[in-house]
Amino acid sequence: MHPHGKLEYGGQASPLRTCVGCRVRTVSSELLRLVMVEGVIVPDLRRRLQGRGASLHPSLSCLDLAERRRAFPRAFRTAVPLDLSQVRGHLEELQTERIG
Ligand SMILES: [Zn+2]
Repeated sequence: MHPHGKLEYGGQASPLRTCVGCRVRTVSSELLRLVMVEGVIVPDLRRRLQGRGASLHPSLSCLDLAERRRAFPRAFRTAVPLDLSQVRGHLEELQTERIG
């Protein structure tokens, strides 16, 4: 996976999504799709999982912003506490790869 991959501007218009952290609107290919599976937020890396999704820049600062704004319970329309450890782990991995 290439976090800084090319924007897919081609013949086809890419759908726009809003990052739940910084609220910036951008092409969905720049954002990580997140879905909720039984109270756990997981990164939908293959964009194959069904159900309500949220979009987030693949960055820990956006995750922190989203958490502070309680954006996830709102995005997933739930009042239950959500487990973000999988998303955080994934983003930490990405960041380590970028530094190394
Ligand atoms: Zn963002």
